[in-house]
Amino acid sequence: MSNLMIFVLCVALCTACSKSSEPEAILATPSSLVTVKIPEVEHEHKEHDDKSAHREVGAHVHGAASMSVVLENTQLNITMSIPGMDAVGFEHPATSADEQAALNQTLRHLQNPDALFPLPKSAECQLVNGVVETALLDKKASVGAHADMDIDYQWTCKHPEYLKQLSVQLFSYIVHLQKIQASWISQNKQGAAELTKENTELSFE
Ligand SMILES: [Zn+2]
Repeated sequence: MSNLMIFVLCVALCTACSKSSEPEAILATPSSLVTVKIPEVEHEHKEHDDKSAHREVGAHVHGAASMSVVLENTQLNITMSIPGMDAVGFEHPATSADEQAALNQTLRHLQNPDALFPLPKSAECQLVNGVVETALLDKKASVGAHADMDIDYQWTCKHPEYLKQLSVQLFSYIVHLQKIQASWISQNKQGAAELTKENTELSFE
């Protein structure tokens, strides 16, 4: 085999292998109740340097997303903040086709909260609203900023007494995600837990 042939073969193999390591998307239909948007205040910092353009100072540590779960009477509210690194693997506005594809895929998953948080049928919960805000969609955002994804979901549950725990399936869909620092308030109790691929249940007891 000539060197050229070996080279071509290697390139072909590497391309195939990097393609197959891409997450196989389990595409569900995005809910029309979940809005995806660019945060509004982002443009105010246009003339500042990169440091001041980072408007959520100290709010994000790579490798850890934060989540807050509040169950009050029949209302279930989940808010999350995921660093861009953990959501898509980068924190600048998507430029290449690969980055745009990764961003689209993550946004599609985030628009399907009933798959990310499979709630017990007995609780009879209905998604009522969702918002996903990210500067990663903002082509004019400054390159040095640490963009993240801020998420807010709300459900109404007819039988909240059956919500004894929350199954968190984000790790199956968002491959860069390593851990979630979760805190919860359920009726009169509260607690906190660290969730990982191996520990995806948040118990409300
Ligand atoms: Zn960052």
